[in-house]
Amino acid sequence: MAATITTPLRARVLGVPVHVCGDVVAAALALHAKGGGQIVTLNAEMTMAARADPELGAVIEAAELVIPDGAGVVWALGRQGRRVRRAPGIELARRLLEHAASHGWRVALVGGSPAVMASLQRRLAAELPGLDLVVASHGYLGPAEWPPLQRQLLAAPPDLVLVALGVPRQETWIRGLPGRRSGLWMGVGGSFDVWAGSKKRAPAWMGALQIEWLYRLVQEPSRWRRMLALPEFAAAVLRQRG
Ligand code: UDP
Repeated sequence: MAATITTPLRARVLGVPVHVCGDVVAAALALHAKGGGQIVTLNAEMTMAARADPELGAVIEAAELVIPDGAGVVWALGRQGRRVRRAPGIELARRLLEHAASHGWRVALVGGSPAVMASLQRRLAAELPGLDLVVASHGYLGPAEWPPLQRQLLAAPPDLVLVALGVPRQETWIRGLPGRRSGLWMGVGGSFDVWAGSKKRAPAWMGALQIEWLYRLVQEPSRWRRMLALPEFAAAVLRQRG
């Protein structure tokens, strides 16, 4: 795809930056063509986390592309008069993997449990046979194992690195890499679990009703505490004028 996309407009939700662009895949490919950068997938929970955690806030501030991953962020942008389509990170990541497979990109995957990473590799080999996987590491390494992995990743050099370590660790880990990054680096949360078949995404009708969070809560009840951020997010947006 041609890299003639204009730079996406940068808006803010509760002070946290998010890019408004018609087509996030095109924006990501344009970023790759410019040498790469970090992609952050912003939802309501992460917006509240960024307000409470200056380190995460600074990482999102510095990210080259922040996409509106959650319905809450899209709703908040709508209240500012910005009509934006929701761009789930898991869908952008999958499209980038497909693009990688057909364009000879070097791809690295980091994160998930050892079992998830093993089954993900098997599945991707079958589903995207052209994929050039230069690094594939689960995310439960010991402290001494991370620095060599980081060096290996930076040296690849990769075109696309998907990192599934959970928020905010995946974002700060990408930012804190000891060296110059090239290619696209993106935190993907639970995407490996879904692709490996160990977790399910909410059905589309729940997405349409904007209650994906409820599905997630039923699948992973331990998330309830984190999800208290959602009503706090809504209240904070409603308190803001326009
Ligand atoms: N994970 C990991 N190493 C860790 C902690 C978590 O690789 O030390 C993985 C975990 O196996 C899962 C992902 O990180 O695949 C986190 O997924 P989650 O759905 O919790 O992401 P979030 O909602 O935080 O974006």
